[in-house]
Amino acid sequence: MPLADIDIKFIPGVGPKKADLLAKELNIRTVEDMVRHYPYRYVDRSRFYYVHEISENMPFIQLKGQILQFNKIGEGRSQRLSAIFTDGKDTIELVWFQGIRFILDKYKTGITYVVFGKPSFFNGKYNIPHPEIDLPSQLPPLEQMGFQPFYNTTEKMKSGFLNSKAIQKIMQGILPFLQEKIPETLPNYVLKKFALMNLTDALTNIHFPKNNYALNKARQRLKFEELFYIQLSILQQTKWREQNLKGFLMSKVGYYFRSFYHDFLPFELTNAQKRVLKEIHADVSSGKQMNRLLQGDVGSGKTLVALMAILLAVDNGFQGCIMAPTEILASQHFETISTLIGDIGIKVALLTGSTRTKEREDLHAALQSGNLNILIGTHALIEDVVQFKNLGMVVIDEQHRFGVEQRSKLWKKNTQPPHVLVMTATPIPRTLAMTLYGDLSVSVIDELPPGRKPVQTYHYYENKRQALNGFLYKQLKAGRQVYVVYPLIEESEKMDLQNATEGFEYFKASFPDFKVSLVHGKLKAAEKDKQMQLFASGQTHIMVATTVIEVGVDVPNASVMVIENAERFGLSQLHQLRGRVGRGAAQSYCILLTDYKLATETRKRMETLTRTNDGFEIAEADLQLRGPGDIDGTQQSGMPFELKLADLAKDGKMLEIARNYAIEVLTPDPKLEKPENHILRSQLKKLKTNAVNWGLIS
Ligand code: ADP
Ligand code: MG
Repeated sequence: MPLADIDIKFIPGVGPKKADLLAKELNIRTVEDMVRHYPYRYVDRSRFYYVHEISENMPFIQLKGQILQFNKIGEGRSQRLSAIFTDGKDTIELVWFQGIRFILDKYKTGITYVVFGKPSFFNGKYNIPHPEIDLPSQLPPLEQMGFQPFYNTTEKMKSGFLNSKAIQKIMQGILPFLQEKIPETLPNYVLKKFALMNLTDALTNIHFPKNNYALNKARQRLKFEELFYIQLSILQQTKWREQNLKGFLMSKVGYYFRSFYHDFLPFELTNAQKRVLKEIHADVSSGKQMNRLLQGDVGSGKTLVALMAILLAVDNGFQGCIMAPTEILASQHFETISTLIGDIGIKVALLTGSTRTKEREDLHAALQSGNLNILIGTHALIEDVVQFKNLGMVVIDEQHRFGVEQRSKLWKKNTQPPHVLVMTATPIPRTLAMTLYGDLSVSVIDELPPGRKPVQTYHYYENKRQALNGFLYKQLKAGRQVYVVYPLIEESEKMDLQNATEGFEYFKASFPDFKVSLVHGKLKAAEKDKQMQLFASGQTHIMVATTVIEVGVDVPNASVMVIENAERFGLSQLHQLRGRVGRGAAQSYCILLTDYKLATETRKRMETLTRTNDGFEIAEADLQLRGPGDIDGTQQSGMPFELKLADLAKDGKMLEIARNYAIEVLTPDPKLEKPENHILRSQLKKLKTNAVNWGLIS
């Protein structure tokens, strides 16, 4: 019987109770599920390491050598014992905080020991706290010790006797039977092409690696498999859409587009904007439905592109809408666009949660009669009562705030899906974007409008606050405006509010000659809007806010962005915030304020920001520092199945290879019907039945 059909409870040492826990806690039901539960780390007892090889984030490792001397440090309760240990070349400190007398009795200087532990970094150097120490003669030979796997478990599992060790035992019982029971999931020609390990060996070595090399080969094989199947699935989906979904034809470049371009546009389009518009025009003239991601750094002029895409739709007899993640943004888009198109003869309206009932009813009627050409709004647009006469173009601003499901609701507003343009300032590599968001085409605005001075960014510690205030005073005196942003503290909304409110009082007191606005998440939308308007029109000079202002607001006269507790923000968030300034003619500044003590990673974030304004470089760094699990919207993205081993950030190269190869395989055999591809077809089917099918609704 294949392992996929054997209930895990029948495995010796499991039984119904533990099986129940495994199902509830980790969704492990069959023996195959169990085998696909990979260790999250290993202890490497396959070899001895040298001190000079120690680096950050190492697993438990072992060293061989001698203790040179012991030192007792401190008094009483805070006493610790330190030993200087040498591997014959370099030294490292071993540290104990308890059991000091026992250690001193048991271990002697000048004897060769095997020391086993997890290196930790403290005060600029590595040490090993509470190591295990053995005489070499007490240990089995290295080949027998090998790697020991550690498995994720939960608190409930641990109290049900299912800790990592127990899982390791179960795994040891299962693995010998893998050979005939888990059929290979990749065709032979794929294994050959990339010199991949076969599935049985890969699974055996992912749990109990023979050595580092075997572990790497196993990981490589299993990662490739994950990425390859994801690409196959996405590409087939694309094909399906291309064949089954017709797109509205909007090939005519008509009156509105032309006259806007020639008579209303207050500046010349950048080359990047022109190029993207051409790409959009090609899409909407193709007869296929457009599903395009528009990436452009903050301030690169995406709104204008959105508007002109909608003008194309209007020229061809369709309506368009823009959906923004917040009311502030929606009303700002509404104002910008109303101003831009002036009296060209197009009707635009705003619909948000706070639109009055009467107004709302009129609006619904106008939409259905076709009197209204462009609707701008928030989530309110998705509601079922909002029906268009002929919706042809949907623009979604700042993608990551909207889930796939919400997008699909917009689709259903028509018998035929409208063209979709998704705009984001979070630049991610192309292949990654396509993997995360499904089958989108990608356009990039890689050029800022001319005349922008890059924002100068500085990292200050708290103790520079006086100097900072002096600087702010000068800027305010010169007629500029200032943002001060506080982090949103998710664990405690109260504290979040308190920080911003205290900040508000502080800035009011420190700058009595100027007016200060306060905006935070707890304010009613109307009050938020009022404060934003006051600031936008220059009636207030300092805007103290939590991250509600993160996305999109446009106040060209604001020239300084102060970010309090900058260490609490992620890189791309900081970059977004910085993008709020530098929109006018004046030189702009971004000040990152932090505590003096910073983790290495945080320090890197600050350095990256002060070094560069390039959104792509920052996104790249962000990906490296955080990993894609944190990329906004990943959870709601178009990923067809879960990744267990592959890491979209770190395995970008392999992702690309997997994608290209998937194209190569599908081109001559789109339905995977050739005999050599049967494995692919049935495995894909199996993966899909096990997962929610996001592809269909993206
Ligand atoms: P984002 O891409 O961040 O949404 P916006 O669309 O808000 O950027 O544009 C930022 C600012 O740049 C706006 O004030 C807009 O009017 C201006 N802008 C856009 N395109 C151009 C251009 N081609 N030349 C000059 N200014 C432009
Ligand atoms: Mg914008």
